[in-house]
Amino acid sequence: MATDIKSMSLSGRKIDVSEKEMTFKEKMYVFAIAKGMGITLRHFFKPKVTIMYPEQKREFSPVYRGRHILMRDENGAERCTACGLCALACPAEAITMTSAERKKGEENLYREEKYASVYEINMLRCIFCGLCEEACPKEAIFLTEDMVSSDFKREGFIYGKDKLVMPLEDKIH
Ligand code: SF4
Ligand code: SF4
Repeated sequence: MATDIKSMSLSGRKIDVSEKEMTFKEKMYVFAIAKGMGITLRHFFKPKVTIMYPEQKREFSPVYRGRHILMRDENGAERCTACGLCALACPAEAITMTSAERKKGEENLYREEKYASVYEINMLRCIFCGLCEEACPKEAIFLTEDMVSSDFKREGFIYGKDKLVMPLEDKIH
């Protein structure tokens, strides 16, 4: 026997809409309003599930993954060698980079002979899966507990090295 697709309900909470003429009592909406107010009152005295963000912040789970950081080593040099493995591992294709050769005298800036002159993550594409972190052979990229800030423009979500590289004063001691 063929299944009637129209009568199927995945949630099991489907209610068929009645097209019958409303009675005078129903047209007054008194009972509907009273029922709605009852629901409002019931929720009014329950503990709030919302918080006053950003003054208040929720405690994140220990496995929470937020925005990325590009690490420096103990001398303050950038660890990333622009190998591209993070970009390759990224299922959202959110990472792009341009590599450059380190010049003489730049050893204090870049740990390896090759470095990322441009490194960008599109936070609108990122799904914070952490695969870039897993793929990195240089321990150069990590996901932090910080959230990606809101912005009015899409360009604001393209994070370049100015936002990603660890501040020099935070270098690994
Ligand atoms: S966390 Fe996942 S989606 Fe985001 S940049 Fe890294 S690999 Fe791509
Ligand atoms: S962050 Fe790691 S995996 Fe990505 S390009 Fe740099 S060194 Fe390679």
